[in-house]
Amino acid sequence: MNAVELLQRLIQFNTVNPPGNEGPALDFLRGMLDDSGWQTEILAKVPERPNLVARLKGAAPGPTLGLISHVDTVPANPEEWTRDPWGGDLADGYIWGRGALDMKDQVASETVACIALAASGWRPATGDLLLVVAADEETGAHYGAKWLCEEVPEKVRCDWVVNEGAGEMVEFGGRRFFTLSVGEKGTFRFTIRATGVAGHGSIPGVGDNALLKLAPALAALHRQPPRESTPDTDRFLQTLLGHVPSDLEAGLAAVRAADPLLADLLADPMLGVTLAPTMAAASSRENVIPSKAEIVVDCRTPPGMTGEQALERIESVIGKGDWQISFNDPVVGNRSDYGGPLAEALEEWADLTEPGAGVLPLVMPGFSDSHWFRKAFGATVYGFCPQSAMDMAETKTLVHGADERVAVADVELMEDLFTWLPPRMLGTAGRPDLRSG
Ligand SMILES: [Zn+2]
Repeated sequence: MNAVELLQRLIQFNTVNPPGNEGPALDFLRGMLDDSGWQTEILAKVPERPNLVARLKGAAPGPTLGLISHVDTVPANPEEWTRDPWGGDLADGYIWGRGALDMKDQVASETVACIALAASGWRPATGDLLLVVAADEETGAHYGAKWLCEEVPEKVRCDWVVNEGAGEMVEFGGRRFFTLSVGEKGTFRFTIRATGVAGHGSIPGVGDNALLKLAPALAALHRQPPRESTPDTDRFLQTLLGHVPSDLEAGLAAVRAADPLLADLLADPMLGVTLAPTMAAASSRENVIPSKAEIVVDCRTPPGMTGEQALERIESVIGKGDWQISFNDPVVGNRSDYGGPLAEALEEWADLTEPGAGVLPLVMPGFSDSHWFRKAFGATVYGFCPQSAMDMAETKTLVHGADERVAVADVELMEDLFTWLPPRMLGTAGRPDLRSG
């Protein structure tokens, strides 16, 4: 079975989370891996939410390379789709279905590559190759990567990790780059609450309207906190522009002038804290002046930023007022340094695959399972699943959207990377019968 066929099959397993129901898909993968010589285990916090961990041991001790992924997906409404979201149709050069891009494409290409490597007789010279296909990424990883890293760390300890998060090809200034995620912004969603005194809507002079107290804060949220540079933003701008601009606003404008989409999707969110008001609540009755009102703001922060620092940025925009601010389940952003063997290998692969192509390291605005592996093991974790047939403009509305699909050519590109990378990182023991190149 090649990666395209496996992806079609995986899409046909409905793994919408909740409830996830990842078991049948993982059993299917496990059977194929077992047959090719992998040591596999199903590890689960509860039986109905399993994770697949497969290991190919090396001839000598050394660093472990982990290929990690998740097999659960977000829901899909078939009425909005032109094809069955769980059909796995192959049509027009694409494989269609929920999870085609997020991220059964990577699960399929990694698994097929791993099977081919083991079946060829290849084994790592040093260190282990680890394949982790987790459950429950889309709703917080409580049964998936978080549980694995916290409760059975010895089973999934890695030094280098490749996960989802980036890999699309972008063209900028006449050069082509595969994006690579080195980090993920933090989420510091917060609620701004005001209190007053309830009253009848017909006599506004009597109550103390909590909703009106929030008006200055809401109006101020048209603006964003000042731009901030980090080592990651410096490298990003250096790679694109050939220099690090002293004025980040001017740097962003230069990116925008060349590629507005790249500016909006990647550069703008990377260059500091972002604030987006998303929810509001006050009185539940048309004729009752609210004694309580609140606004929820989605706030994303650069890696490493603390709550105290985030609050300072927030108050630089909305000021202080007759309200209280509280964070809702804050998560500090995380990152890996860029450089070292894994970065060198991926740069080499990019140039081999698309002569002249480079790698564009960046920080993603959203987050994935990468941070669990960074936190538990201090692993170098990169998001990298290469795509060159589809560009960002094409994929941006498809991930979690209707008509999610992936180009057949990109699945083949992924399979090529994941077959090439393990021997490049871990060396070769034995006498494998690998295709050359
Ligand atoms: Zn995903």
